[in-house]
Amino acid sequence: MDERGVVEALVSDDGRVVFLGSSDEALAYRDKDTKVIDLRGYYVLPGLIDAHLHLAGLGFSLDWINLRGVRSIEEMKARIRQESQDKELILCRGWDQELFAERRFPTRHDLDEAMKDKPVIAFRICGHLAVLNTKALELIGLRRILEGPYKEYFERDEKGNLNGIVKEKGLSLVHEAIRGDEEYYLSAIRRACIEAAKHGITMVHAMSCTLEELKAIVTLRSRGELPIRVRAYLSYDVFKTIENIERLRAMNDDMFKVCGIKVIADGSLGARTAYLSEPYHDEPSTRGELLISKEELGEIMDRALDTNMQVAIHAIGDGAVEMVLEVFEDRKEEVTRLRHRIEHASVLNEDVVELLRTVKPVVVVQPHFIISDWWIVRRLGQRRARLAYPFKTLMRHCVVAFSSDAPVEPVNPWVSIEAAVTRGMDIGIELGKLTAHERLSLEEALRCYTTGSSYACSEERRAGVLREGGYADFVVVDKNPLNTSKVKVLATFVNGNKVYEARPGVVEAIQA
Ligand SMILES: [Zn+2]
Repeated sequence: MDERGVVEALVSDDGRVVFLGSSDEALAYRDKDTKVIDLRGYYVLPGLIDAHLHLAGLGFSLDWINLRGVRSIEEMKARIRQESQDKELILCRGWDQELFAERRFPTRHDLDEAMKDKPVIAFRICGHLAVLNTKALELIGLRRILEGPYKEYFERDEKGNLNGIVKEKGLSLVHEAIRGDEEYYLSAIRRACIEAAKHGITMVHAMSCTLEELKAIVTLRSRGELPIRVRAYLSYDVFKTIENIERLRAMNDDMFKVCGIKVIADGSLGARTAYLSEPYHDEPSTRGELLISKEELGEIMDRALDTNMQVAIHAIGDGAVEMVLEVFEDRKEEVTRLRHRIEHASVLNEDVVELLRTVKPVVVVQPHFIISDWWIVRRLGQRRARLAYPFKTLMRHCVVAFSSDAPVEPVNPWVSIEAAVTRGMDIGIELGKLTAHERLSLEEALRCYTTGSSYACSEERRAGVLREGGYADFVVVDKNPLNTSKVKVLATFVNGNKVYEARPGVVEAIQA
């Protein structure tokens, strides 16, 4: 599949595609060093691009205890007991209290019952909230919690004691406590890249990059050990501390670029911290909260503009999306030129759609949220849910890029594509029935995962597309991806080099 449709053969040289067309013509490029690969009727498509994930987080999570799909606090405790044998620090992710038979959040006491003598930290599926056992609270330091600037992010029970739940900014103390050494980061990032390549991803946008992450990526790049392309969006706190951003960006090359900064405007729907224009349907006492004011966002954008950095803003609730769009509206030229992005844009309303139409930011979404947020109709009520994850509507007005937000959702893009195409209708997701008109075709979904995502980092001429002069990044799959999302990735190539194959020799090189 390329801009001219389906072609028979592709020639790459020095990491770039130099020819697309018939096999006969392609063979004319052959010299004694040429490797000819016979694809035996398999399908080739441009490498997919995940426009929003957390690279180190994904790498770390590969050996965390996975609590996704756990149906009760009792099951959560049993899982932690079973899988924590040889670990000193027990890290878990993926629980969702909405699925629990007990219908409540777990507390430090629940975790103490699972494990008393080692610290346990269990992140909720959204990553915006965690529950800690007593040992883990001690690991962070009770004084730092109780007297520090983030004390209100640590919840208390009726008696005023910490109940183990930590939210949003308070999590920075948690992340600090579990931070590993340099080697730990190098291996996490390498593993995350390989995991992505396994599913046909050849480029990722690494969001909220920390300094440790950035250093590790740069080290891997300079050693020639970065398996796939990485585009970094620094967390704003990191951006502030880097004295010479121009010097950092002067090191950009085809494998790694620093593109922009990530700013967070609100929380998540799961934790009811996403900022809605009206109260939550299932909790009328709150409409979530903005984590940044219009003025603060404006100032951040001014600083970003000084160094021509693209800005990517996390906004989930329609109230937050609207606030961001209003700030963008005053900077239309800049939004168009630097392609400022809104991350998530999960809930819209008619006014917000109208604003999107005039402001036209890049919108980066995560189709698999439709499956994980199966309760969303309850949160929003039927009327507002009609504009939840409205991908078709978004595509009418903006360039839409697809992503996983891994480790929040699975990094496998094919399950995200499936979610965008079915909207969970086949598995009884309520939102699917309400918003059937927002389903995408396979071709549209693939476009979002390729050119949509490369547009989001201003590389649509080179990446996410197979064209002469573009990157020789491509994926071999067993079935036609325009007919089904249930394909098997057989091999992944970056710069014309094989970085993954499903089994040795699956795409056999024949010397013709
Ligand atoms: Zn994210």
